[in-house]
Amino acid sequence: MARILILTEVDLPTDFARQVEGYLENMVQVQVRKTDFEGLKSHFRDTRRGQVRADILLDYLEPRVKNYEGFDKIVLIIDDDGYVKGLNFVFGVAKISGSLAIVFTKRLIADRDLYHQRILKEVLHELGHAFGLDHCGDPRCVMYFSNTIEDTDRKGPQYCPRCMARLRTLIMKQ
Ligand SMILES: [Zn+2]
Ligand SMILES: [Zn+2]
Repeated sequence: MARILILTEVDLPTDFARQVEGYLENMVQVQVRKTDFEGLKSHFRDTRRGQVRADILLDYLEPRVKNYEGFDKIVLIIDDDGYVKGLNFVFGVAKISGSLAIVFTKRLIADRDLYHQRILKEVLHELGHAFGLDHCGDPRCVMYFSNTIEDTDRKGPQYCPRCMARLRTLIMKQ
């Protein structure tokens, strides 16, 4: 059983942890804690672009969260806009088989239900990477690469059968 800690700046539905567990077939145990990342964001903000430098933040935090309180994966939900070198923005970042996943919510904003649904998809997508999955060619699969918010709205939150099968192996090996 993999343990996941979600640290979020955004208020989430009370059943959010259960939803993440459900889409991961209850192979994981999820805890959600409300926090703020003001200090962290100010250190990693590109003042010219007004966005958070997601790749540098990931590189900085990744070794620091490893085995934090015994959790296998840490997810940060940051109420801001992020980018990586070479891209105008990212919805989230995670290394393949890393310990950390980061989701940026600024470009996910919509009415409450849609907003939460988009956050759920991005969390499941980045967690997929953190567990070892790469992108999937199936536009309905949550591991499909979202270039636009329309891509996000079209896909998941489910993993396609192929990605799910791979995830079972990857999570059991943890
Ligand atoms: Zn991805
Ligand atoms: Zn897939």
